[in-house]
Amino acid sequence: MTNYRDQHVLIPESDLEGMSVDTLAVRAGQIRTGELEHSDAIFPTSSFVYASAAQAAARFGGEEPGNIYSRFTNPTVQAFEARLAAMEGGERCVATSSGMSAILATCMALLTSGDHVICSRGVFGTTNVLFQKYLSRFGVDTSFVKLTDQDEWEAAVRPETRMIFIETPSNPLCEVADMEKLAALARRSNVLFVVDNCFCTPVLQRPLEQGADIIIHSATKYLDGQGRCVGGAVVGPAKLMEEVYGFLRSAGPTMSPFNAWVFQKGLETLPIRMRAHCDNALELAKWLQSQETVEEVYYAGLASHPQHELAKKQQTGFGGVLSFRVKGGRKEAWAFIDATRMISITANLGDVKTTITHPATTTHGRLSDEDKEQAGITENLIRISVGIEAVSDLRTDLQRGFEVLENHRQGNV
Ligand SMILES: *Cc1c(COP(=O)(O)O)cnc(C)c1O
Repeated sequence: MTNYRDQHVLIPESDLEGMSVDTLAVRAGQIRTGELEHSDAIFPTSSFVYASAAQAAARFGGEEPGNIYSRFTNPTVQAFEARLAAMEGGERCVATSSGMSAILATCMALLTSGDHVICSRGVFGTTNVLFQKYLSRFGVDTSFVKLTDQDEWEAAVRPETRMIFIETPSNPLCEVADMEKLAALARRSNVLFVVDNCFCTPVLQRPLEQGADIIIHSATKYLDGQGRCVGGAVVGPAKLMEEVYGFLRSAGPTMSPFNAWVFQKGLETLPIRMRAHCDNALELAKWLQSQETVEEVYYAGLASHPQHELAKKQQTGFGGVLSFRVKGGRKEAWAFIDATRMISITANLGDVKTTITHPATTTHGRLSDEDKEQAGITENLIRISVGIEAVSDLRTDLQRGFEVLENHRQGNV
């Protein structure tokens, strides 16, 4: 990785070695210019100038490190990359224009026609579309297996398998994959183990330490945390990231400096936000469990969750997303959602504002009925991305939904 920033880096990386993720979130990767600004500078520029024609030639020829054009490198983007790489404990991070382009760039850089991918069922809907509809056209075949069924993973491996791709915890049912077992399978089979760490972030889970080769992020979610920008990132060993970087530089879905700056500032508060999300989600999950008109609550922080112990081992918190089934079907689920007044009805997640959604008709609406059934996306399922508002106020708002359900139950509606 080019270290042209060394002269400007506020704290040398070696000084931060061994420091906690809370500190890295605030301190890693900052650039300070000659103006000696305390906050992070932003460099919204498409290109960079040279002192001479000879220097331009040296930069283009790769003999001298330095910026050329913001599709290649940009100081603000590199500051965000350095910070996230430090937090994930990875050698290098490459930022992308969205979470989807992080996945696309990883696949385009590291897969070739004839390769086979094994992906967990119930990954983010568009990830599913990317593998099934687009990568298949370029000769990359994908098998989908149950996230928590190790036998299915083992059985799906073929000689041409090149990548295992998972999200853990899963969306929306919060199933947790055993990363150690999957990492062992990946090593044995000589395939790349890719983990989408969007739901936990490095604050709650560091997959590289548990055997993953590559981490994917949708920075749009918790890394920003306030719903402002779309972006993504890939983190992993320098050798693999150089390939991903090469694809981005040629194909173009890189991150804008403005977005990088927003994400960089977002990372500073990520540790305290994640703890607030986790605390609120656990409290709400327990409260939802006690409701008459709730059939089941899905949250790995609950002792009743089938992978509760595994989640405790792999994660330092259970995250901010939970889901639950209400008694009834689509009518009841929609009525519940519509009864809330403060909580936002939107499919986005990872925001400080609490959001509520009906997966069967939004995020997972494109799945076939069979795929929905296999993924557990029933008509009475509701997902909440729990924000950082006072949990008592969230209960007050959700109580409006329970009153409507109670009326339904008594046949008043
Ligand atoms: C949102 C999301 C993505 C896609 O990210 P975008 O930034 O929307 O492109 C990928 N994976 C997961 C788990 C997500 O939630």
